[in-house]
Amino acid sequence: MNLTQFVAAPLNPAERILLGPGPSPVSHRVLRALAAPTIGHLDPQYIAIMDETCEFLRQVFRTRNPLTFPVSGTGMAGMECIATNLIEPGDEVIVCVKGVFGVRMKEVMERCGATVHTIEATWGEVFTLEQIAAALDRHPCAKLLGIVHAETSTGAHQPLAGVADLVHARGALLAVDTVTSLGGHDVRVDEWGIDACYSGTQKCLSCPPGLAPVTFGERALSRMDARKTKPQSWYLDVSMLRKYYVGGSGGRFYHHTAPINMTYALREALAIVLEEGLDKRIVRHEQMHLRLRKGLEALGLGYVPKHSLHTLNCIHIPAGADDAGVRRRLLEEYGIEIGAGLGPMAGKAWRIGLMGHGSSVRNVDLVLTALREVLGRA
Ligand SMILES: *Cc1c(COP(=O)(O)O)cnc(C)c1O
Repeated sequence: MNLTQFVAAPLNPAERILLGPGPSPVSHRVLRALAAPTIGHLDPQYIAIMDETCEFLRQVFRTRNPLTFPVSGTGMAGMECIATNLIEPGDEVIVCVKGVFGVRMKEVMERCGATVHTIEATWGEVFTLEQIAAALDRHPCAKLLGIVHAETSTGAHQPLAGVADLVHARGALLAVDTVTSLGGHDVRVDEWGIDACYSGTQKCLSCPPGLAPVTFGERALSRMDARKTKPQSWYLDVSMLRKYYVGGSGGRFYHHTAPINMTYALREALAIVLEEGLDKRIVRHEQMHLRLRKGLEALGLGYVPKHSLHTLNCIHIPAGADDAGVRRRLLEEYGIEIGAGLGPMAGKAWRIGLMGHGSSVRNVDLVLTALREVLGRA
């Protein structure tokens, strides 16, 4: 018998500068919130913290939707939650595909039993209102249109104003992925008429991964209430989740144990967003993007998309540069993480995220200096 006491090696991850497609840098204030005492998910103190978190989320989504809460799980859980609750087997839906996350939305909706019609744009491009209207006219029975606001795989920024009018005129719902825009770009759920929207915590909200903020408007609620079949997922069934997150006359009902400490972290991350002010924060993301763009273009590095996100900069890898080698040197020598190309962009693009806490003059100038050195353009 081995009598030596087992002692695990110290957990000591490096302090990286996270300038990839997420996770983004997390402030100490948020990390401290994670370490606050764990209490029960039905403790009145916790319910108050959760209610406050949901109210902060409404402000960040710019919505008054009562049904706004963080789904347990990462951004993909938000996508699955919206698909599984709004789609019944046999429903026709339209998904606008212009990158990896549009492809995923199509696949998730297919797994919910939908007949998915896609419209496709070249990677790096966005859809025009005319293209969206034409797709709706081709598929008049479509009950929902799904679109990604910030396509993280290509860095393209999809304009959304006017889309809801087209969708609603045909009696369909508009579902939007704002994982890489919420907290970094303008997201106006009510003004833009978005019926269902999901996001993630580890991109522009600068919180660790683990929750997926979602919001459902009145039309989406009516659609869920009129379902003939139960959502295939028990865990993500909003008709049960709302009895916990929103409650009613009977109080709050246990469905699954809420990720208590992650809620603390999200509460704190949202407080930071609101203290900075959404408008100021959006301007900061724009200014940092412009500062980076100027520096990259001076180094001869060009952007993939015409309409670039401010939160994610997708650039062509210059001829002769060693994709993995450059990223490895940035990580090992400078502690900087940037993203590789995803899907068909693999080996062709780098993705530099300037999200939330990471979107700063210090980080922009640091990554530009490091790239200049590593690419030998000093
Ligand atoms: C990151 C991302 C997701 C998935 O989020 P996870 O937190 O990785 O599950 C979905 N959509 C977009 C646009 C994203 O950038």
